[in-house]
Amino acid sequence: MTERLRDGALDFARQVFDDIYAFSQDPVIGVSRQGYGPIENKVHEYIKDWGRKLNLEEKVDRAGNLFLTLPGKNRDLPCYMTGSHGDSVPQGGHYDGLAGVVAGLTALWWMRHVHFQPERDVVLVVFRMEESSWFGKAYVGSLAMTGQLTPEDLALKHRNKDQTLAEAMREAGFDPKEILRKDPTIDLKHIAAFTELHIEQGPTLDSRSKERVGIVTGIRGNFRHKACKCIGVTAHSGAVNKEFRHDAVMAMGHLLVNMDKHWDEWLARGEDLVFTMGVFKTGVSSAIAIIPGEVTFSIDIRSLSRDTLIRFHKLLEAECAVIATDRGVKFEFDRLLVCEEASVDPALAAHLTKAAKIAGIPVMPIPSGAGHDSAVLANLGVPVTMIFVANQNGSHNPHEQMKLEDFMLGTEVLATAIMTYDQKE
Ligand SMILES: [Zn+2]
Repeated sequence: MTERLRDGALDFARQVFDDIYAFSQDPVIGVSRQGYGPIENKVHEYIKDWGRKLNLEEKVDRAGNLFLTLPGKNRDLPCYMTGSHGDSVPQGGHYDGLAGVVAGLTALWWMRHVHFQPERDVVLVVFRMEESSWFGKAYVGSLAMTGQLTPEDLALKHRNKDQTLAEAMREAGFDPKEILRKDPTIDLKHIAAFTELHIEQGPTLDSRSKERVGIVTGIRGNFRHKACKCIGVTAHSGAVNKEFRHDAVMAMGHLLVNMDKHWDEWLARGEDLVFTMGVFKTGVSSAIAIIPGEVTFSIDIRSLSRDTLIRFHKLLEAECAVIATDRGVKFEFDRLLVCEEASVDPALAAHLTKAAKIAGIPVMPIPSGAGHDSAVLANLGVPVTMIFVANQNGSHNPHEQMKLEDFMLGTEVLATAIMTYDQKE
């Protein structure tokens, strides 16, 4: 019987995960791999090392994205690209992003191991900074690769350091001016197919006993604000009666309850929508005996439909206007960060489903709740699909988990899809 990838490549994949974990650990908990930070740099150096051992062609673009190519028989054909990001959120889990990088590397290792030369080039990409938690901007690596970053993006400040994104890029050895160029760093027409493997980050696949792998049907876009403000009047908590108060925290409570109600109504109408306000800070003067005069807050709205995003964002603004009048507070919105929703390529998704069947691995269709670098490419017309792997304890937290046996199934689907891409029907 011929060896299956899930068995033959298991030790390789485990070693790569373990090696990277060893230098990624946060001193307190979880892993912290800041985009353009020293540990992300180390991830790139580590993957490059494997590229050399496997005799792959190596390229680093002007934004620091890494490309390792296994040359195909016909170098003129557009390539099959796979990969994900090497960074993580602060004190996050080990597998968000890294799973896709290790899956791509494992697929390449496997092709070398079984002496398989593909028809077309197979390229592993390791994107720089995908996570928005450090500087408030997501998909920085893939946006840079496609010439879509703006000077405003590069002026964003680190979450807890006096450093701009441009300065972080410079520190990692890259030129922010070059990164702002509008031409893509690679020819997008030269990508025939892009498949990103990623942990699901939700509970659906992990609740299934049969299908531990999903083929993504669509990717939610998002509208976000990093730091909006509700401004009231700071005053003595004992001396000011209710009718004279302009309490910013109460106003926010009011806003949250109203938006939560709207959200329920929209879901009942059948709209695809998730809504989160996850960061709240009261002003520097906040204290137990002080009526809060200022709250800073974040907004994150996601949907498969652009129209839903626009309308829910408008509704939020309208609610703020009403509450502002009612309570004598003021709302200030910072820049709206938009990430477009994306559709996966149906033909490519069908090919992935077929590959899973060939490999004898049960899969199910699943929507992607999170945005990914894949969405950036899909929106520029690159045929994209994603493979999701069951994971435990959600994501963007230090307790995130993934079973290696599930990962191997997803990786086998990926490798099979790449290796059968040019086979005649
Ligand atoms: Zn990710």
